[in-house]
Amino acid sequence: MDKKSNASTAITKDVTCPFCGILCDDLVIQNQNNKLKVIENGCSKAIEMFQKELPESSAQIKGKNVSLDDAIDSVCKILKKSHTPLIAGLGTDVSGIRNVMELADKTGAILDHMHGNGLIRNTLVLQDLGWIMTTMAEIKNRADLVIFAGTDATNFSRFYERVIWNKESMFKLKNDDRQIVYIGANLNSKPGINPNGKRPTVLDCETEEIGEIISSLHALVAGATLDVNEVAGIKVKTLQTLAEQMKTAKYGVIVWAPGELDFPHAELTIQNFCETVKYLTRFTRFAGFSLGGNDGGMTANSVCAWQSGYPLRVNFNKGYPDYDAYRYSTHNVLKNKEVDSLLWISSFSSNINTPHASIPTIVMGMPDTKLKFKPDVFIPVSTPGIDHTGQIIRTDSVVSLPLKKVRTSPYASVPSVLNQVIERM
Ligand code: SF4
Repeated sequence: MDKKSNASTAITKDVTCPFCGILCDDLVIQNQNNKLKVIENGCSKAIEMFQKELPESSAQIKGKNVSLDDAIDSVCKILKKSHTPLIAGLGTDVSGIRNVMELADKTGAILDHMHGNGLIRNTLVLQDLGWIMTTMAEIKNRADLVIFAGTDATNFSRFYERVIWNKESMFKLKNDDRQIVYIGANLNSKPGINPNGKRPTVLDCETEEIGEIISSLHALVAGATLDVNEVAGIKVKTLQTLAEQMKTAKYGVIVWAPGELDFPHAELTIQNFCETVKYLTRFTRFAGFSLGGNDGGMTANSVCAWQSGYPLRVNFNKGYPDYDAYRYSTHNVLKNKEVDSLLWISSFSSNINTPHASIPTIVMGMPDTKLKFKPDVFIPVSTPGIDHTGQIIRTDSVVSLPLKKVRTSPYASVPSVLNQVIERM
């Protein structure tokens, strides 16, 4: 049975946690008098977010408490007056993004996600040369070589428990059969020590130099010789050993987190990962894996792609979806004054840097959202996966997971608020 309850306590099993892109779906949550406790399987972030008590909040217009109805009317007035709204943040679930798409179509809005810079690093590679990617299940069950490039995955804290160090796997892959490699700067390699003490290989280099290391590995895999002793401080002998390991692995994976490759033209480094992966498939099975999708990032990108034909950073103002990964970034459209109102949505996180621009601004945020300015309209919204049901898409984009309602919230959901806005528009 999924849900057990007595007079005041209910236990819900198999709860999906929406607070990072790997969407662990095994949490057990206790609800006692509407207070939540993670009693199994949550990481510290999940515990913080599920156990945080609902603070008191109210819809506001220019800092004054108003009814939700009045706030929605005010949102409609702002959007009706606006020639080109920016709808950004986009921290919501599948239904929320579907409604965002409808509203963007109606209002001629530009769309971007709060983690748009990371998202487009991947998109640019996919649209340019394509890629071969894998899933969490494939890594868990098959990968005997996992190379973390520019990330140690600790921002996705249960990744090792859920995917890397398994109690069981479908094809009898043992933990000792799995080699872990880290390439990059200041990476925490401790989680890469296997339960029997086998240590990972660490290639310590600047983040900006990871592309150089991977290109050299690509060349070595292809049979080239390098006329140097070192590349980015790593001995060529070390690279030769790793290149051989890559060729002889049964199933290798390069893992990166696009949000953590935060330097100019980092998409070229991701392109290096993907081209090396493609070349390696001449010898063995190899694939890439991207860790990201926090705050509904993968959901927003996927829904935008399946509804409009383009990934995020799309402008609907011309009457058709116009995609431009650079021009339509939140930063650029605000700086270039291409938009004349902002609707910012964040229902998974209250610590978000809502941009402050001198245009009418609407924020749909968690009730405890702290803003450095008073928006024209603030609407406190409930969180999908805690306060209402929904769906959300995992970082590997192959599954959409169901979100459960484990608490009763007085706040409206983003999909329902947007629905009312759309109806009144
Ligand atoms: S690792 Fe991510 S999805 Fe899993 S419990 Fe922690 S925050 Fe939630």
